[in-house]
Amino acid sequence: MKGKNLRMTRQRQRILEVLRSTTSHPTADWVYEQVRREIPDISLGTVYRNLKVLKESGEIMELNYGSTFSRYDGNPVNHYHFQCEECGRIYDLDLPVQEELNRAASQSSGFHVTHHRLEFYGTCRACLAGNGRE
Ligand code: ZN
Ligand code: MN
Repeated sequence: MKGKNLRMTRQRQRILEVLRSTTSHPTADWVYEQVRREIPDISLGTVYRNLKVLKESGEIMELNYGSTFSRYDGNPVNHYHFQCEECGRIYDLDLPVQEELNRAASQSSGFHVTHHRLEFYGTCRACLAGNGRE
């Protein structure tokens, strides 16, 4: 039992390291492929379960883009994302979170608005330069 717990901790730790080592906002499948290099017997289900635990504990963020797969972000601090409609890549935007939007939404609704999500879309620099897809 003790060994099992330690093992879970190691798997979870590795998943977190993989996510924190990239800014590509990967899918669970990608995380699974990376973690499997060091922990060959890990299952995709285990990766999903650990991603859920990490998300619920506030260590990572899950990004939902409509009907496509969830993407994961090792940076749990609120920030904005840009999704390229040409290549599908998701980028961090160097743009401060607009806290005044929460106040404006609170004032217009009478609700207590604590945070918001805002997504940006268009064409990334790589795609504008004609080399978005490798
Ligand atoms: Zn692009
Ligand atoms: Mn991000």
